[in-house]
Amino acid sequence: MQRKPIIAGNWKMNKNAAEGAALVEEIVAAVGQDHAVEVVVCPPFTALESVSSKLESSGVKLGAQNLYPEASGAYTGEISAEMLRHLFASYVILGHSERRAYFAEDDAFINRKVRHAIANQLRPILCVGETLEERDGGKTLEVVRRQLEGGLEGVENGDAPLLVIAYEPVWAIGTGKTATPEMAQEVHAFIRQILAKRFNKTAAGKIRILYGGSMKPSNAAELLAQADIDGGLIGGASLEAKSFFELIQAAKQRS
Ligand code: PEP
Repeated sequence: MQRKPIIAGNWKMNKNAAEGAALVEEIVAAVGQDHAVEVVVCPPFTALESVSSKLESSGVKLGAQNLYPEASGAYTGEISAEMLRHLFASYVILGHSERRAYFAEDDAFINRKVRHAIANQLRPILCVGETLEERDGGKTLEVVRRQLEGGLEGVENGDAPLLVIAYEPVWAIGTGKTATPEMAQEVHAFIRQILAKRFNKTAAGKIRILYGGSMKPSNAAELLAQADIDGGLIGGASLEAKSFFELIQAAKQRS
């Protein structure tokens, strides 16, 4: 099953509007018209517009880092899917471990966001992954299953192709520690099995499953060589055009 690889940059709370525009200009110039890898940049909300304006004639896609699952109303500080669509976002990261940990987001709330994103033509990048304590306690697969099944509740079979899943072991995010390719592949294959049960085998075979957690040019090739690793969700290494582009090149070997 051929799945187009994705390299998505999660800029987190980095880059103001001008810095974001400058970074994405470099990325767009490096990528050119090469569409072998789907490239997505996810700036903070305040840089979405300036970044979006630089993407017009490129194949690079825009993603957001969050949304609030209501159309509009009295939700101070929140951003709707429609606002994101208005800025030409096509993806949205949901369930990131930092949101789970610092903003107490649970699977039920994340699930509302996933369904809301789909209903509003945004493709969710649903993040799942275990903490170090959970891994050490032998609970990795149980946690990933719970987060995945909880996050995908009520999603129709027909919408499965819109989904992107990111497996991000929490202990590997921003720490410089990476899961070994074998550790990552084991979880990715497990995720695909759950997706096959939740939807069907054909749909599961089409869903891209990204690895995230200190992926960088020096370790990307061996991770991306694994059968069920279809790309990367990249934090630190997405903040510089050079390392981000090197990751895109590494993913191209897979395409
Ligand atoms: C992330 O937060 O999604 C991530 C993978 O970060 P980093 O690449 O910095 O570990």
